[in-house]
Amino acid sequence: MTEIPKKYNAEQIEKKWMNYWKEKGTNKFILDSDKPIYSIDTPPPYASANHLHVGHGMHYSQFEFIARFKKMNGFNVFFPMGYDDNGLPTERFVEKKHKLNKSKISRKEFIKLCLEETEKTGKTYYNLFTRLGFSIDWDLLYHTIDQRAMKVSQKSFLDLHKKGRLERIDQPAMWCTTCQTSIAQADLNNVDIKSQFSDIIFKSGDDDLIISTTRPEMIPACVGLFYHPDDKKYAHLKGKTAKVPLCNHEVPILTDETVAMDKGTGLMMVCTFGDKEDVEKWKKYNLPIRIIFDEVGRLNDLAGEYSGLKIKEARAKILEDLKEAGHLINQKDIVHAVNVHERCDTEIEFLKKKQWQIKVLDKKEELIKIADKINWYPDYMKVRYIHWVQNLQWNWGISRQRHYGVPFPVWYCEDCGNEILPKESDLPVDPREEECKETCKCGSKNIVPEMDVMDTWMTSSVTPQINAAWNKKLENFMPMSLRPQAHDIIRTWAFYTIVKSYFINKEIPWKDIMISGHGQDPQGQKMSKSKGNFIVAQDMIDKYSADAFRFWSATAKLGEDLTFQEKDLVTGKKLITKLFNAAKFSLMHLNDYKSDSKPKKIEAFDKWLLSKLNKLIKEATDNFEIYEYSKSRQATDNFFWMSFCDNFLELVKDRLYNPDKRGEDKRLSGQYALHETLLTVIKLYAPIIPFMTEEIYSWKFSAEQKTKSIHNSDWPKVNESLIDDSIEENGDEAIEILAEVRKFKSQNQLSMKEELSKITITTSKNVEEFLDDLKGATNAKELIFKKGEELSVEIDK
Ligand SMILES: [Zn+2]
Ligand SMILES: [Zn+2]
Repeated sequence: MTEIPKKYNAEQIEKKWMNYWKEKGTNKFILDSDKPIYSIDTPPPYASANHLHVGHGMHYSQFEFIARFKKMNGFNVFFPMGYDDNGLPTERFVEKKHKLNKSKISRKEFIKLCLEETEKTGKTYYNLFTRLGFSIDWDLLYHTIDQRAMKVSQKSFLDLHKKGRLERIDQPAMWCTTCQTSIAQADLNNVDIKSQFSDIIFKSGDDDLIISTTRPEMIPACVGLFYHPDDKKYAHLKGKTAKVPLCNHEVPILTDETVAMDKGTGLMMVCTFGDKEDVEKWKKYNLPIRIIFDEVGRLNDLAGEYSGLKIKEARAKILEDLKEAGHLINQKDIVHAVNVHERCDTEIEFLKKKQWQIKVLDKKEELIKIADKINWYPDYMKVRYIHWVQNLQWNWGISRQRHYGVPFPVWYCEDCGNEILPKESDLPVDPREEECKETCKCGSKNIVPEMDVMDTWMTSSVTPQINAAWNKKLENFMPMSLRPQAHDIIRTWAFYTIVKSYFINKEIPWKDIMISGHGQDPQGQKMSKSKGNFIVAQDMIDKYSADAFRFWSATAKLGEDLTFQEKDLVTGKKLITKLFNAAKFSLMHLNDYKSDSKPKKIEAFDKWLLSKLNKLIKEATDNFEIYEYSKSRQATDNFFWMSFCDNFLELVKDRLYNPDKRGEDKRLSGQYALHETLLTVIKLYAPIIPFMTEEIYSWKFSAEQKTKSIHNSDWPKVNESLIDDSIEENGDEAIEILAEVRKFKSQNQLSMKEELSKITITTSKNVEEFLDDLKGATNAKELIFKKGEELSVEIDK
């Protein structure tokens, strides 16, 4: 038994246990254990943050609760941490922080900066997560840029290549002119922007043809005009050409059934390339190519006098010139949805590049079907996944024209164009740095490396396999038990992981997926430094304790965002203080109690409490099993505040303090209920409030149970034989009577301890067995009980 501190000092207690867990290796995953493995595919956060806000702490707290719950339920919990430090998010972070641009710095210098920054962010996460008491086994740590991750990621490339799921194509792909790389459909956000429809005259002979467009700067890239074949007003244009204004090149006028007759004038301009429709028509009609801007979005010589302007500058200048030439006849303000790159909010363009892509469009049905084999919590999140897959329009482009990422394991023969792949045993490789060991089958030694890097999701989509590669003994590791993640990355992380697992292993990556929301500021806005609503997690922990922070995190309903309210931390702190005081009071009365002593008879109020307690165990456990930790905590809160503190502790006091008057066995019954209940309550709270529960456990229970940590102890089991509805019903009536007496005392400004001469109770319930405790708690000289219909309580002072 350790000494019970006089006052609750959160920092002292939490630092003590933090060190204790580290010293004793309480959180270690035990490779040779006989226990079944429960494995968590922890989200590896982007290594791009100087500070972490309360939402970061909240998000990770939620599956930390599950890790601790599963451990207490007999599982050997595999709870790793990873950092997603390769790829664009880190590169963007470094570019912003150091005010540079990938084209203005050498690859080596840039990678060096990225590695330095990721190391710093790693420390920031480590500090927060250990301070919050997370049961992560840090020996399982991986980085998506490390050798293990690179090897697994490159192996997935070879696997997909072998299975025919990969292709290298030379066609237009979505391009970000800020990040200077191609991107995938999942990297896009849809935003509404203010723009203008401009009506522009094209000439076909003497005909004025009017085109409505939001992108007049694309005029120099125009390669054709289209109308619907049923559109009678343009039928006479069949086979003719039109002259592009300002540029004076001629383009064909063609028909296509996808042109909407009621959109604009029903006449459409096709360019190289303004949008997906342009790309499709270019392919379908074998149109020429007129690429007018470069990788940073600057117009080139094909744009004539507009050469050297950026896209938006060109738009303004071209509109001005069109107006002057009498070709601009009308303009209308509109708000329309455009695709922007999620990392930088730049409107996307299309550039033709040689790219690798994973074919997914031909397997939509299968990718939807396989989602049924995974348990989705909450269930409705599966719909988001299904919608995403149904609405996919592009294969997954995985080439990024960037520096800092996992390199493609591929070289090319310059003479015959052959792709040369390394042997699996040679992985990981960096073709940009290493000579190709193979010669081409054509005999040529003229071999060049692939210079692009892979999409960052290419690596984070194999996190289950990266975890499995931690040790050879983890043979039956897949599918993992749980993928916890936020709802906004269903379209990326969940989808891509399922894609990889399905194509490579023909199976699901995990049995369960638990989707959570984000922490937001008190107004429900996303927190960000620039908006000034960034609430630093560490500040709140310093002010209220890690336990209180975690308590707040457990308020979040599964799948839903949670606004940060400081008052919730106050509530948490209050509960933890109450837990400390209630436990101290209980321990005072349990000094002489041995955990194997059972009373001959259990008193009515003790039975009432134990029945409610066992129902609580059931409710808390069932909710935890379906990842509804917030409901579990809520049920425990209610029981603890009301049934245990407000009522039971008041009712049992008389028996605990006065064994001479009430009898030793009645005291023992009270001790028994008190002991069972306190131990159970701290266990039910242990996953959420690990520090305070560990502290209380150490006072007495640890020695009794011969277990060094509550977190290695067993989760409470329901004892069905103790559940008794009728005792609860009668006990509840007795509680109602107590409440009436308390109300009377407070209305008459009497202290709660004040003696009363007589209380007469009329009720239809069988409350006789509870009367002695009621008498003690109300301090009544005489208590009279009468059978009747309606409850009435008459009190004489
Ligand atoms: Zn971008
Ligand atoms: Zn060759």
